[in-house]
Amino acid sequence: MSFTIHGIGVSGGIAIGHAHLVSHTKLEVSHYDVPATQLAEETARFDRAVNTVRGELENLRGAVPAGAPAEFAAFIDLHLMILGDTTLSVVPRAIIENERCNAEWALKIQTDELLQQFDAIEDSYLRERRTDVIQVAQRVMKALSGQPGYVPPPAGDSDRNLVLVAHDLSPADVVLFKQHQFASFVTDLGGATSHTAIVARSLNIPCIVALHHARQLVRENEIIIVDGTQGVIIIDPDPQVLAEYQLRQREFGLERQKLKRLRDTPARTLDGADIELYANIELPGDVALAVESGATGIGLFRTEFLFLNRPELPGEDEQFEAYRKVMEEMGGRPVTIRTYDLGADKQIDDTARLAPNPALGLRAIRLCLTEPKRFITQLRAMLRASNYGKMKILIPMLMNASEVDQALLLLDQAKRSLDAEGVAYDRNIPVGGMVEIPAAALALGLLTKRLDFLSVGTNDLIQYLLAIDRTDDTVAHLYDPLHPAVLTLLAHIFATAGKSRIPVAVCGEMAGDVALTRLLLGLGLRQFSMHSAHLPDIKQRVLKTSLADTRPIAKKMLRATDSAKLRGMLEKLNA
Ligand code: PEP
Ligand code: MG
Repeated sequence: MSFTIHGIGVSGGIAIGHAHLVSHTKLEVSHYDVPATQLAEETARFDRAVNTVRGELENLRGAVPAGAPAEFAAFIDLHLMILGDTTLSVVPRAIIENERCNAEWALKIQTDELLQQFDAIEDSYLRERRTDVIQVAQRVMKALSGQPGYVPPPAGDSDRNLVLVAHDLSPADVVLFKQHQFASFVTDLGGATSHTAIVARSLNIPCIVALHHARQLVRENEIIIVDGTQGVIIIDPDPQVLAEYQLRQREFGLERQKLKRLRDTPARTLDGADIELYANIELPGDVALAVESGATGIGLFRTEFLFLNRPELPGEDEQFEAYRKVMEEMGGRPVTIRTYDLGADKQIDDTARLAPNPALGLRAIRLCLTEPKRFITQLRAMLRASNYGKMKILIPMLMNASEVDQALLLLDQAKRSLDAEGVAYDRNIPVGGMVEIPAAALALGLLTKRLDFLSVGTNDLIQYLLAIDRTDDTVAHLYDPLHPAVLTLLAHIFATAGKSRIPVAVCGEMAGDVALTRLLLGLGLRQFSMHSAHLPDIKQRVLKTSLADTRPIAKKMLRATDSAKLRGMLEKLNA
């Protein structure tokens, strides 16, 4: 029976394919049938994973230094005990045999069952042990998959026609999808500016988040239409609907092709103002699409994605090679490379997820400053790569003067260490800061006095200004780039930067939203950085905009406080 579910479209376009379910919770796994003849091998695979984890924990136990706190050894003992308990090490074997399913799925079913039991426990100490169960199960899951967070595709299916249906996915999971060619993916959780959604956009396939119950309602292999523009999925469509969407899909493809012709046209308004349109990238492999879309530079390279999905962090040489590749492929066009913004929803260590309020915790520059050695390694790699083009360094999540000063001091240290080794780098490399925390936006002098340029991260700025967790689908409807506070703050940032003669860009998702292009231009923005997929659309809008016409309406919008009125004005602006 055909039915539809509504969510938030985070990447436009239409996909039509077969549903492939990945499991819920952090333990993202696929589910597939195992033939009876292979069940013995599947249980043996599960046993091997359990043994691998036992070995890992025993090694850890043996490596505890004599002076370490007693809780450390106790913690490992507890994990060994959980692993050794039949509920985790034996019951999944029975599930594999009874359900004839893969080991990951059996482990997931059993872990969910255990977690439900934990939720019912009154004793708070015991209830908190659910985290330990999750951690042990994740270790086994990792041992099964061979690499952390890996979502194995089911055997035999062509990725191209698969629509992944998940309860939740981490940004690290999604970045792995770049190796596959899924038609689309949809999730129950997540907000429009969560990093999961952002990476999804860079895959250039239709995606929807915040569907709430899709994972429960959709069955494996069902035909599913994903309309990423409208934020709706249609499951098991009837032939007429299917034909209609096939037609729309073709039209959408043709429209994209048409926009590609704008690639070499300069982004100039009707009244002759030149606008910079840059691309955001997550990995060096994204540069090709950026160049193809006509980006005249990289406005944001989210380098932290180099650090995800791997047991060991990349060293200086590996980072240098990645940065150099981007510089060389951009052929002298500016590359704004951000120091790693790890933490919050981009964790390299699973246990760190347990911070009480990760978005307000140790992330981005805060984390870098607590790990100066790791930070200097990255700075050295960046400086070495600065020789291969026009690099700018961007620091995320700055909040006070001391953070800027400390970051600049560490950059100086990195430079001096290269000087001592006689290694060349760009001595005039510009250093900029991201405006993402309202405090920094309000006291912008902190940044303008110390830095060479600014880039506004509207995703975080809105998250912190409106107090809505960008990863939480239950408050996703409150995300509002047109909130009067957002517009007032943006106008303040653009005006203050202008007065200080400091270049300012926007690199949050607002920059790639064609409905907001004229408004941002009218408020004074001249540099936009967005995912490559949005660039042709934004350029087309710039080409059809007169700054003289947008300014008065944008000014009026700044005075409006009524959200319906604001939307009406925006419509007029875009007419
Ligand atoms: C932002 O916050 O708007 C931004 C560009 O950074 P990120 O989305 O990576 O947090
Ligand atoms: Mg940010």
